[in-house]
Amino acid sequence: MESQGKTLAVVGGGAAGLAAAIAAGDFAQKRGFSLDIAVYERDDRVGRSILATGNGRCNFSNACIDAERYRNGDFVAEALGALERLSAGHGSGEPGNDPVHGFFRSLGLVWREEADGRQYPLANKASAVLDVLRAGAAGRGVREVCDSDVAAIDPPRKPQAPFTLRMVNGVLKRADAVVIACGGRTLSALDAAGVPRTAAKPVLGPLSVCERDRVVTRELDNIRVRARVSLLRGDDPCPVAAEDGELMFRKYGLSGICIFDLSRFALPGDRVAVNFLGGRTSGEAAADLESRYGRLSQRFGRLTYGDLLRGLLLPRVAEAVVKSRFINPYNHVESGDLPALAELLTGFGLEVEGIADPGLCQVRRGGLAVDALDSRTLQVRDAAGLFAAGEALDVDGPCGGYNLHWAWASGLLAGACAAAGLADGDR
Ligand SMILES: Cc1cc2nc3c(=O)[nH]c(=O)nc-3n(C[C@H](O)[C@H](O)[C@H](O)COP(=O)(O)OP(=O)(O)OC[C@H]3O[C@@H](n4cnc5c(N)ncnc54)[C@H](O)[C@@H]3O)c2cc1C
Repeated sequence: MESQGKTLAVVGGGAAGLAAAIAAGDFAQKRGFSLDIAVYERDDRVGRSILATGNGRCNFSNACIDAERYRNGDFVAEALGALERLSAGHGSGEPGNDPVHGFFRSLGLVWREEADGRQYPLANKASAVLDVLRAGAAGRGVREVCDSDVAAIDPPRKPQAPFTLRMVNGVLKRADAVVIACGGRTLSALDAAGVPRTAAKPVLGPLSVCERDRVVTRELDNIRVRARVSLLRGDDPCPVAAEDGELMFRKYGLSGICIFDLSRFALPGDRVAVNFLGGRTSGEAAADLESRYGRLSQRFGRLTYGDLLRGLLLPRVAEAVVKSRFINPYNHVESGDLPALAELLTGFGLEVEGIADPGLCQVRRGGLAVDALDSRTLQVRDAAGLFAAGEALDVDGPCGGYNLHWAWASGLLAGACAAAGLADGDR
């Protein structure tokens, strides 16, 4: 039996919240049932967080999302699978196509792919993504209620009674179902009906290194190199994580996308090992250096470290790296020095102090505990009608569109399931 005149409150008008509201509106329109959907946003406009993404271009998804790369990857895989089945069941998905891509296609967004499958709107502006979302929401009767900072979500006092949203300014709102989509930054200020959560810490940001190693990074401030970077812990020679990409030295330490990705796993005291030779092992590098040494010394006579590394590394990088081992780059290099030099160039170690600047981090690791939710619906297990999506959950992914992809996908699943629950009279 269908219920009439139900209300759905979405807390947070960011990526997950807007996707949830549109999915709920879609469901209600298709089923022809009346659902009042309000997005409560603490800011004076929805979607500001989307505008800041991808340097203002919004890397909104990735062509090759791999659930294993997310924190709590099993949970994410189940949720993405549930969304696929749901989209196929509603006839809104195209076989073999990602539901997130189907969603944006249905809203009229056109995009293109860059390196590593990163997807950006063709218009190259994040506002293009927000525009189609707002139009999509308006077309489904979604109300944007801005300047509404939700302080607490009180659970229903008895079965079938509504949730109560308490705003910071004292205003109360009732809703039959709620989607928590407030992101990771402000989650700690929200009393989310007692849903358990893990402490949140900023990740996907630059790393600072210990004072001793800052002598090098200060000298190389703003220099970019392509390298393989590995995160090493204790005496274990197996890296905790490894990435290839562009590394940028900064006065405080290291930045660049590959460092952002390592920052998800880094702990103070870990070491970042920089391989300047594109993943060559130290043995391979020693052999390369040996033959290079032979060729160059035949032509130029005795070589200094600087002579040997000229054309292989940027001169400032070569100098700083060699000097870090108290070797004068103008000293002559002997054949017997090459194995140690190869070790240095393939595993130049810097000790991690921590996240350099939380303000530069793209996501929070931690949030609502995934065990508390049903991965097939994103409903809180002990609270019928209460759903959660996006970064509010203890899910984060690497750079490259993963985090927004999760926000849209989880928002779509939570919104559709919330509406379906109300339509079916579950609440
Ligand atoms: C600078 C930057 C660049 C990024 N670039 C990318 C990128 O290119 N690609 C990518 O995949 N990811 C990127 N990310 C990460 C991505 O933006 C987030 O993972 C994603 O926005 C999370 O979506 P969300 O809806 O869960 O949370 P948010 O986008 O944070 O949205 C939450 C919304 O809820 C509102 N809100 C919070 N608390 C309350 C409350 N109590 N009451 C009412 N409203 C509330 C907030 O104001 C906000 O509008 C970037 C992040 C940053 C900071």
